[in-house]
Amino acid sequence: MNRVLVLALVLNFAFVIASPAQDTYIRAGGVIDVEVGQLIENQIIRIDGERIVAIGPNISIPAGADVIDLSDSVVMPGMVEAHTHLALSTQQPRDFGRFFFTNVIETTAYRAIQGVTNARSLLEHGFTSIRDLGNNGNYADLDLKRSIAEGWIPGPDMQGVGRIIAPFGGQFKLQPEHPELSEPEYLTADTHDEMRKAIHQNLHYGTDLIKIVVDDYRYIYSAEDIAYAVEQTKRAGVKLAAHVATAQGAKNAIAAGVNSLEHAWALDADDFRAMKEKGIFLVGTDFPPDQAGYFAGYDTALARIQYDQRIDRLKRGYNAGIDIAFGADVTDQMDDFTRGSRTISFIDSYLDAGISPADLLRILTVNGARLMGWEEDKGTVSTGKHADLIAVSGNPLDDPLVLKTVSFVMKRGVVYKRDGVFGWSVPLTRTYD
Ligand SMILES: [Zn+2]
Repeated sequence: MNRVLVLALVLNFAFVIASPAQDTYIRAGGVIDVEVGQLIENQIIRIDGERIVAIGPNISIPAGADVIDLSDSVVMPGMVEAHTHLALSTQQPRDFGRFFFTNVIETTAYRAIQGVTNARSLLEHGFTSIRDLGNNGNYADLDLKRSIAEGWIPGPDMQGVGRIIAPFGGQFKLQPEHPELSEPEYLTADTHDEMRKAIHQNLHYGTDLIKIVVDDYRYIYSAEDIAYAVEQTKRAGVKLAAHVATAQGAKNAIAAGVNSLEHAWALDADDFRAMKEKGIFLVGTDFPPDQAGYFAGYDTALARIQYDQRIDRLKRGYNAGIDIAFGADVTDQMDDFTRGSRTISFIDSYLDAGISPADLLRILTVNGARLMGWEEDKGTVSTGKHADLIAVSGNPLDDPLVLKTVSFVMKRGVVYKRDGVFGWSVPLTRTYD
């Protein structure tokens, strides 16, 4: 390696500071007000520690202050990925679209190491907050969350569900000689007592929310079963996410009043009406057709039909005015993609559904923050909120595809990416809980 290259690498990685900036100023060519859906030109954002303390066109910058010049860029809030699985990276073609193999073959430790890369990749692509919805072996999501919070590794702020709660079998097709293979991916719960115990176990280990699988088998959770889970999670002050695939599963979850439907491929007008009335989010995870291997057995024609159906229900939900949060549910290790680049590519599905750029930006920011209960701290570029900021080269209200090339990422006042280069240095000192 020549000396110039070494120097360049050192410089690239030297800009990252371990602790939040004290009194930093960002000169922004424009800032997106995602709530209004407007670009406001020539703004200065003042950041103290991990929060935005002022924003406006006429903020004076003291001499010698730390200034980040983004005057040729558009700044917007960091994005929220509301349905991911950091420690699940299925290998194709080995696993042939079945995460069963990945979960059974790989150790939790190996998957956690993959999760480190996935977390970094999501941050690099502008996702400053994520909701991890399970399949992380033995609670690797919570260890990743802790490692990010303590500064061992770079990654988004996150919430994790721990182990997914499901009826017998979890989401696997087991055989009677190995019923234990659903461990540790799932906590199986077929009675209300088992459900309560599973929720308590997750809460004990520190999960931020609870996820149930409603209807992957012919024995599905009833509305009464789910209402019991809603009652238990409400009592504990956490939210309940429901994986639903079938029409009946969705109806049961909606009747019970969960906080979000994950996937929910089959929803009708009555469902949308009830979701709107109850404030239930749709996190649609609508896979692009090229993810055929995962759900349609590499049948690209079938994948296309499924995609069209899903985009149609996304469109109907959008027109019905339900709350939608962005979730890509990427678990596949695909050629030419990282976790982050693959995740942001899912905005194509939203655009295909006819969602306007302004609404897409809301789906990617404020909506996700609200679903996570983080609306006080995240989701908009506002005084008092965390300085979770990204920058792109054009106006995403005109061309949302610029979101695929994020050039700058700041989370809680710490710069992680600048001029398109991601950098990170582990801080020398830390205090632990
Ligand atoms: Zn998922």
